[in-house]
Amino acid sequence: MLDKLVIANRGEIALRILRACKELGIKTVAVHSTADRDLKHVLLADESVCIGPARSIDSYLNIPRIISAAEITGAVAIHPGYGFLSENADFAEQVERSGFVFVGPKAETIRLMGDKVSAISAMKKAGVPCVPGSDGPLDDDEAKNKSFAKRIGYPVIIKASGGGGGRGMRVVRSENELTEAIAMTRAEAKSCFNNDMVYMEKYLENPRHIEVQILADGQGGAIHLGERDCSMQRRHQKVVEEAPAPGITEEMRKYIGERCTRACLEINYRGAGTFEFLYENGEFYFIEMNTRIQVEHPVTEMITGIDLIKEQLRIAAGQPLSFSQKDIQIRGHAVECRINAEDPVRFLPCPGTITRFHSPGGMGIRWESHIYTGYTVPPYYDSMIGKLIAYGENRDVAISRMRNALSELIIDGIKTNIPLHQEIMTDENFKKGGANIHYLEKKLGLQ
Ligand code: ADP
Repeated sequence: MLDKLVIANRGEIALRILRACKELGIKTVAVHSTADRDLKHVLLADESVCIGPARSIDSYLNIPRIISAAEITGAVAIHPGYGFLSENADFAEQVERSGFVFVGPKAETIRLMGDKVSAISAMKKAGVPCVPGSDGPLDDDEAKNKSFAKRIGYPVIIKASGGGGGRGMRVVRSENELTEAIAMTRAEAKSCFNNDMVYMEKYLENPRHIEVQILADGQGGAIHLGERDCSMQRRHQKVVEEAPAPGITEEMRKYIGERCTRACLEINYRGAGTFEFLYENGEFYFIEMNTRIQVEHPVTEMITGIDLIKEQLRIAAGQPLSFSQKDIQIRGHAVECRINAEDPVRFLPCPGTITRFHSPGGMGIRWESHIYTGYTVPPYYDSMIGKLIAYGENRDVAISRMRNALSELIIDGIKTNIPLHQEIMTDENFKKGGANIHYLEKKLGLQ
């Protein structure tokens, strides 16, 4: 097993990684900014190193400082968590070149999947169903682009190959808007992602977001752990996630899961990863792969009993997967609510000091968070301060436990989105299951 590991992240995921390391007997090094000295995992880690000022660019995104922290503490590996440098191929490369283990795939895989045009082409080749599209980058040939769009059928969506975070996309509903939309998306992609490559896809009107969790050891072993439904979104950001996805049969799970595991073997994938799909009228359409652990990983852990972070660490230590596909049994249902420090009506971040905190409990309830009474949520980072997960033998039980847990959860001193979650958990359409990605915004009057 790895001897000592740098946790190159903050907040709840840093604490989650620390706990997994402790279980596996791995010593931990917390690296943090000056604004994060009081983070729970910094206080619990074996060692800690301050890597710079509050701004992420000076600390959590500063590659030389993170690698130096590993050097001076004698760590052997670096876990990037999610966000920050987790999908930065240059970081993965520099970590490995400096002689450390990167907990994640090889840099070349991150690069391949980070560019959406190359990712889609690799997935098509591996037999993963993709959205009908231009099958490659668009150039400025107007007539050719128009004929692509005609073949695909309007509406189409123009997307930045290097895009992320829901930015760099434009829906086109008729031919006379096409050329301008391509030019605008290209300009935006150039300025936001320093990459002006754009491509075209069929725009699906009312899909659900369904994603498949995989684990691969890079030594010929790959399995899938079923799917999650993350259709409850606001501005392309997930708000509530659940596993399994309502209405997905064992047969469909097997169909899509097998294609994902086959693709992992094809690209020689190593680590935990997620294939994201849009799902409409019974069909899956690949949109992108995340080459890291995701925020919503706990719902999969609850229904499979597999600790995904521990598996990431075992794979990074060079161990082959210790179980096969037939060992993966899906039992019950899990729901996750992302708890954000934000105004529940206007959705603006709301940093500040927590004056009173009480965590919920009871059978099937899991609380993943770094907050405590007296903790100050800094204004510099993402507003998510915790994740509440409810498990039950079926979806109704999980939702009713979530409702109770939300009513027990007390976070005073700052505004949070707990009221929004309470509203979702009592919403008749959410309770039915299977709502599409526009449902929440429509309900909130945002669309
Ligand atoms: P990002 O990397 O920015 O998250 P994605 O490709 O994952 O970009 O797309 C983000 C979201 O944009 C999707 O969850 C979906 O809501 C919407 N979207 C992307 N492609 C399509 C499409 N072809 N049809 C309809 N909606 C889409």
